[in-house]
Amino acid sequence: MTTHLIRSATLVDGTRADLLVRDGIVAELGTGLSAAGAEVVEADGLLALPGLVDLHTHLREPGGEASETVLTGSQAAAAGGFTAVNAMANSSPVADTAGVVEQVQALGERAGYVTVRPIGAVSKGLAGEQLSEIGAMATSRAKVRVFSDDGHCVSDALLMRRALEYIKGFDGVLAQHAQDPRLTIGAQMNEGALSAELGLAGWPAVAEESIIARDVLLAEHVGARLHICHLSTAGSVEVVRWAKARGIAVTAEVTPHHLLLTQQLIAGGAPAPLDGAYDARFKVNPPLRREEDVLALRAALADGTIDIVATDHAPHTAEAKQCEWAAAANGMVGLETALPVVHQTMVETGLLDWAGVARVLSSEPARIGRVDGHGHAIAAGSPAEFTLYDPAARRSFDTAQLAGKSVNSPYLGRSLPGRVVATFHGRPTVLDGSVLAPEHVSGGPRG
Ligand SMILES: [Zn+2]
Repeated sequence: MTTHLIRSATLVDGTRADLLVRDGIVAELGTGLSAAGAEVVEADGLLALPGLVDLHTHLREPGGEASETVLTGSQAAAAGGFTAVNAMANSSPVADTAGVVEQVQALGERAGYVTVRPIGAVSKGLAGEQLSEIGAMATSRAKVRVFSDDGHCVSDALLMRRALEYIKGFDGVLAQHAQDPRLTIGAQMNEGALSAELGLAGWPAVAEESIIARDVLLAEHVGARLHICHLSTAGSVEVVRWAKARGIAVTAEVTPHHLLLTQQLIAGGAPAPLDGAYDARFKVNPPLRREEDVLALRAALADGTIDIVATDHAPHTAEAKQCEWAAAANGMVGLETALPVVHQTMVETGLLDWAGVARVLSSEPARIGRVDGHGHAIAAGSPAEFTLYDPAARRSFDTAQLAGKSVNSPYLGRSLPGRVVATFHGRPTVLDGSVLAPEHVSGGPRG
């Protein structure tokens, strides 16, 4: 297998180093390195970041292959600088048995672009009534550690308690999609003056905040780890801040889109081609909120109240999105744009430095999800899981930059900073800004 010499990359602490990658490992890290026959990657001006880890990706396979497959989603992840993703359980069939999670893991290994860690459903069929085969999934070959009914809320308090008790025994974490179903019947956008003006049914902040408040108390009672998916309101931040101060084992994520975009986009005014009102690419669950929510989420990510950024990459076919607002599916693709959006919202604003970015997009998500072999600092002897990022680049985002199967991105036409130049998952998956073809990447376990 080819040896790669990455020359003069900048590490997150600002120092410059050469990296020699051999047999899937960073064999050497230092200055003035050389290796006969190595393929050289000039990284002058490029940041070397630990491979990004997404705790919340929808890969859609099995069952939703028209919008994404494990292969195409893995390619989108690599294009965005990711080396590991956690695949949500709301496939068809639902990932609620050992058989399905092992299938998803095997598809990920066959694709070879990233480590695919399946998330197991909390309840059978995501129906919120009976627990899924949690133990069988945890002890399967897929070693599931993250359990979630994402897309649905585990709304029954007794089921939530039992799930926390069960998952705790496997060092797992329950990732809750916090949305009271009764308070959000028919909801179409954030509830407030704008929803009234546009005539769309409101999605109140309290539907999210009340579930988080209940669940942090249940997690405290059980002594289990709880993770809150996609926080979207300033009030949710306050509840998590209170819980952490109390010592409750809760972690939280925010999506890139909730760090940048507001509900105002639904009324129109986005860059072309999304400039019209009611463009369903802005329809997402939880919904885009107010400017003050965006600012509260950024501040919470900076001060550690929110632990990580997770994409909630949610591919949808054109048919599912290009229809009237009320009928359109919720969700946005986000793997390719996560790092540029965090760059713009957190680094350019001075809220995080690059070491902070590595924390919220790599080491912490790997720790929360127990994703072995990822999230470590770039060091000699460690697995070669990293991405090379050009922070000085800036480009107008278009569909040509999307490596996945679906194009429901809210950033089309928008100028975003930065560019992923290369990604290594043991071996290169992206070089010169292009995702390598499967024959250069796949072929079983990396190495
Ligand atoms: Zn969700």
